[in-house]
Amino acid sequence: MATISGKCLCGSVSYESDTEPMFTANCHCTDCRAATGAAYSTLSFFKSADVKISGETKSYEHTADSGHHMTKLFCPNCGSQLFGENSAREGMISIRAGTIDQAELVKPARNVYCSSKIPSTPLDPDLPASEKMPEA
Ligand SMILES: [Zn+2]
Ligand SMILES: [Zn+2]
Repeated sequence: MATISGKCLCGSVSYESDTEPMFTANCHCTDCRAATGAAYSTLSFFKSADVKISGETKSYEHTADSGHHMTKLFCPNCGSQLFGENSAREGMISIRAGTIDQAELVKPARNVYCSSKIPSTPLDPDLPASEKMPEA
């Protein structure tokens, strides 16, 4: 059994990994809010080589305010956002943590882009919070 598994809403796209997330963060940036339609996005990061993806995804590429090239991968059938790649993080993939089956392994370590959060969104006071993305 894989350590991590998940799928989109319709099940056309699924993934597995034998490693736990390297890092998980809640992102309140306007791009994540627009892409997911949610108040914020929880992202779990893995080495791309550690994640096995099954099924066809569609992708959308855009440039973030950081100037980095972002690719968002989603199910072309149901529209679920699943994965993200960032030109600044070669070899890494983020997974939209809401799609992960093992909910107990989704442990955000910090909140980022709090400068653009929806004011009513509560923040865990025990976690560090940054205005933008902290440098490494
Ligand atoms: Zn789907
Ligand atoms: Zn974001």
